[in-house]
Amino acid sequence: MAAGRSLSRSERKAAARAEFLLQEEQRERRRQVSRILHKPAAERSSEEAALLSGCQEIVRDLERLHKKRERLRRRLEEVCDEPEELRRKVSKLSAVVRGAKHLIIYTGAGISTAASIPDYRGPNGVWTMLQKGRNIRATDLSEAEPTLTHMSIASLHKHKLVQHVVSQNCDGLHLRSGLPREALSELHGNMYIEVCTSCTPNREYVRVFDVTERTALHRHHTGRMCHKCGAQLRDTIVHFGEKGMLQQPLNWEAAIESASKADVILCLGSSLKVLKKYPHLWCMSKPPRRRPKLYIVNLQWTPKDDLAALKLHGKCDDVMKLLMDELGLPISPYDRSAEIVLGSGTASYTNTTLDYF
Ligand SMILES: [Zn+2]
Repeated sequence: MAAGRSLSRSERKAAARAEFLLQEEQRERRRQVSRILHKPAAERSSEEAALLSGCQEIVRDLERLHKKRERLRRRLEEVCDEPEELRRKVSKLSAVVRGAKHLIIYTGAGISTAASIPDYRGPNGVWTMLQKGRNIRATDLSEAEPTLTHMSIASLHKHKLVQHVVSQNCDGLHLRSGLPREALSELHGNMYIEVCTSCTPNREYVRVFDVTERTALHRHHTGRMCHKCGAQLRDTIVHFGEKGMLQQPLNWEAAIESASKADVILCLGSSLKVLKKYPHLWCMSKPPRRRPKLYIVNLQWTPKDDLAALKLHGKCDDVMKLLMDELGLPISPYDRSAEIVLGSGTASYTNTTLDYF
C-alpha cells in the first residue's frame, strides 16, 4: 500500500480478517504444542518433536505457565512433617521459647479448627468452599470451646513465656481461654462484643451470643441500645476493606508496641496472607538482622516461609502439646464455669466499662 494514503474500507476489512486468521492460527498452534507437551517425551512422534523444536517460544511460555500453576497448587497443599521431624523441630522451638526476651504470638483460623470452627483457606475452609460454590453450614460458635492451643497460649502467658497475642480470629476463644484482655489484640474484632462509642470510656457489652447477626460491611449497628445513654450499639468486627478504629478489642497500640519489643514471633495456624499486610507487625522498618526471629506453625505455605528461622508443618494442637511437654508446663483444661464470657468469672479492666448479659 502506498505510504501516506489512508486505507479504504475494504482494505481495512481485509487487514482485520488477515489479523484474525493469524491470531487463530497462533492459538491453534499453541493448543497443538500444549497437547504434545502433555505427552511423555518418549511417546511423541518425530513430527510432533519437530513441531516443538520449531515453536521454542511457545514451549518456553507454556512451561513457565505450567510451573506457575504447579507452584500455586503446591502452596494450597497441606504438608505434615514426619512425627520424628516434628518432635525435633519442637525441641528447637522450646529452646527458643525458653530463651526469648519478648515473645509474641500471632494466631489465625488454623488454631480454632479443632473447636469445630472451619478455617478460611484450608482445603475445607470457608473461603475454599465458597470458591467451589458450596454452601457453608452455620456453626454455632458459642458451642465451640477453646482448643488445646488456646489453653496452652494462656498457660504460656501465665508463666511469662509469652508477652502478647495478636489474633485474626473473631471467635472470642482467646478471651474465653483465660488470656487477659490486655495481653490480646483481636485485629478483626470479637463477635461476642458490642460497644457503645457514645459513652466515655466506651462501654462494652460482652454477650453469650453472636452480636453480628444483623451487621455487615459498613453496617455495624447491632439493633440493640446502650442501657446507660440509649445510643445504638455497634459490633467490633473489621471486614475486608475496612479500617478498625476501636481501642478494644482491636488493641492496635499494644500489638504495635509489643511487636517493636519482640525478639521472637511465633505464628500459629495463619496463612499470613492478611497479617503480612501490616508491616509494623513484622518490624519491617528495622534492618533485617534486628527484626524478630520468625517461627511458623502451619500446614500450608505462607508468604513468610522464606524469612522464617523454622517452619513447622503440623497441626497447632499437636505442636503445642509437644511444646508444653518439652517445657514441662501443664495445660489447664478448659473450665466453662470459670471463664468470663460464658461463665460467672469476673475480671478487672481499665479504660473500658464492661457489662455482661
Ligand atoms: Zn452509651
